[in-house]
Amino acid sequence: MTDQTITSVSREHRLIRPSAEFKAQANLGSDATYKRLYAESVNSPEEFWGRQAKEHLVWRKPFKKVLRWSPPHAEWFLGGKLNVSENCLDRHLGTARENKAALIFEGEPGDVRTITYKQLHFHVCRLAHIFENMGIGAGDRVAIYMPMIPEAVMAMLACARVGAIHTVVFGGFSPEALKDRINDCQAKLVITADGGWRRGKIVELKANVDRALEGAPSVQTVMVVRRCGNEITMVDGRDVWWKEAWLGAPNTHEAKGFDAEHPLFILYTSGSTGKPKGVLHTSAGYLLGCKLSSQYVFDLKENDRYFCSADIGWVTGHSYVVYGLLSNGATIFIYEGAPNHPEPDRFWQMIDRHGLTILYTAPTAIRAFMRWGDNYVLRHRLDSLRLLGSVGEPINPEAWMWYHRMIGKKRCPIVDTWWQTETGAIMIAPLPGLTPLKPGSATRPFFGVVAKVVDERGREVPRNTGGKLVITKPWPSMLRTLWGDDERYKKAYWSEIKDVYFTGDGARQDEDGYFWIVGRIDDVLNVSGHRIGTAEVESALVSHPAVAEAAAVGRPDEFKGQALVVFVCLKAGHTATDPLKEELRSHVAKEIGSLARPDVIRFAAALPKTRSGKIMRRILKEIATGGIVKGDTTTLEDFSVVASLQAEE
Ligand code: ATP
Ligand code: MG
Repeated sequence: MTDQTITSVSREHRLIRPSAEFKAQANLGSDATYKRLYAESVNSPEEFWGRQAKEHLVWRKPFKKVLRWSPPHAEWFLGGKLNVSENCLDRHLGTARENKAALIFEGEPGDVRTITYKQLHFHVCRLAHIFENMGIGAGDRVAIYMPMIPEAVMAMLACARVGAIHTVVFGGFSPEALKDRINDCQAKLVITADGGWRRGKIVELKANVDRALEGAPSVQTVMVVRRCGNEITMVDGRDVWWKEAWLGAPNTHEAKGFDAEHPLFILYTSGSTGKPKGVLHTSAGYLLGCKLSSQYVFDLKENDRYFCSADIGWVTGHSYVVYGLLSNGATIFIYEGAPNHPEPDRFWQMIDRHGLTILYTAPTAIRAFMRWGDNYVLRHRLDSLRLLGSVGEPINPEAWMWYHRMIGKKRCPIVDTWWQTETGAIMIAPLPGLTPLKPGSATRPFFGVVAKVVDERGREVPRNTGGKLVITKPWPSMLRTLWGDDERYKKAYWSEIKDVYFTGDGARQDEDGYFWIVGRIDDVLNVSGHRIGTAEVESALVSHPAVAEAAAVGRPDEFKGQALVVFVCLKAGHTATDPLKEELRSHVAKEIGSLARPDVIRFAAALPKTRSGKIMRRILKEIATGGIVKGDTTTLEDFSVVASLQAEE
């Protein structure tokens, strides 16, 4: 062991076995099948993926070679041609799925729309014509800056249909952030809406676009959906209404096949650790990763109604709202607004109203629900749910247990899915019905994923020892590069250890081979010579009944190397007092040992988060050190949170 090894302090040992009922209907049958297929997928990846690609995707021209790997660049399914939108839509036409709901939408004001596969196909075909008439075609970049409304999904699929590369920018981002992203990829077209509803107010999307475009000369056309009816200005010769463009466009569209490696989208990462990176994904490998993982990780059934609460502005919204689900012919539910509007029980209301069967959400949301109190949940039946999922951050075991008990009524397995914008699809996750679950662990690798926990020199560390999480073999849905910056691609992901993909996350594998993410490598604490992951300390805090959420960071300390500073948000009904601080310090010491006893506890009304809901520890680190926040804050959700934390200092 070197002193760079991460000490794992977690003592979580609960094991939740799948019910016999769930097991009996699981898509993969048995755990033995998973083990056999997994072994094949890593021992003979070309055979495995070649077979899956033939079985799961609709090809215009068959591929000749499965993989060309010249590290760190991979090409998959060479020589093959396909159309991604055809794989999500046309393939379902003329089948029993034709008149099935592809999409159920609920707007924040309560308006509901249901769109069948046939109708969605019709919309996308028309839009594809409109794009082509505008001169948007293969390789052109299109920025999508929209609320969570059906037109956003249509826009993505229409880009895919004509071979244009979409870059979806989350509708909560500022004009500045939008401008940066448009300029980085030189988008020619922006698709937006007049506004979107958020907590009863209108988010002025079109006005933001106007401001962004003052500094983004590449954009020639702006297409605007009427959503809120708010007043906007339309610039002559540049802006067109979606509805008007719509008139007269033919409603069939012959899709062309594009190369398997044709770029599908650019998506900028959340920015938890620094300046966002423009991750590039291509067509066939990406789609295959999404389709296969959706089918097995969500154990999709024909009559599922699947609700993923992620915005399409995040990778989760790309892979697990749009591409993975529609390619499987599933019914997706999308919701426009805030989870606490008009009341904190909006999700539970919608689940009952629409009979939703799968809920995929993030730990930040789960902790917010816990904080708002059980009463909001208990008013609803939630009996249509059969499966729950989590993504985005490590889920604290106590939040997992709450989700399991309160939302899943102990009946629904939880799939904790570890992956990244860069990985394109889920990498580590349980297969429901097969994998015994451990609260807080993403469990085992998905097909084709060779994940390892290694030390500084790239040597695998012993079980139950922390280290860096790496992926040692290429996989079909991996990013191909960073847009316009291949050097940064090589440096950020492939230079830590030669030809091995570095995730940036710290992890440990337990005695059963299960993976536990202990936090970001950059955030690892160094207390008296022990390197401790943030997630483990935070989970210990969250296991105290008064605590809703916590963030742990280090501050330079003369004696210990680093002093442990924790920021704590309390649940409704608890008050911040000095005795409670003392109690929390002892609680952590009791849960994980005195080496992790916090030096400083600070109560906070809220924690700084990215707009995708992740805690931004790099900002808290600066606050704990007493400095002013200097790093990139463009992806910060609410600067007032930082301002009030700084003011308290
Ligand atoms: P940036 O790369 O710009 O700092 P980001 O890493 O937050 O932003 P994403 O690609 O959206 O951007 O998030 C991926 C990261 O989220 C993972 O590297 C991991 O740290 C965390 N994560 C996602 N899912 C899980 C999970 N199930 N368990 C633990 N951590 C997770
Ligand atoms: Mg990242």
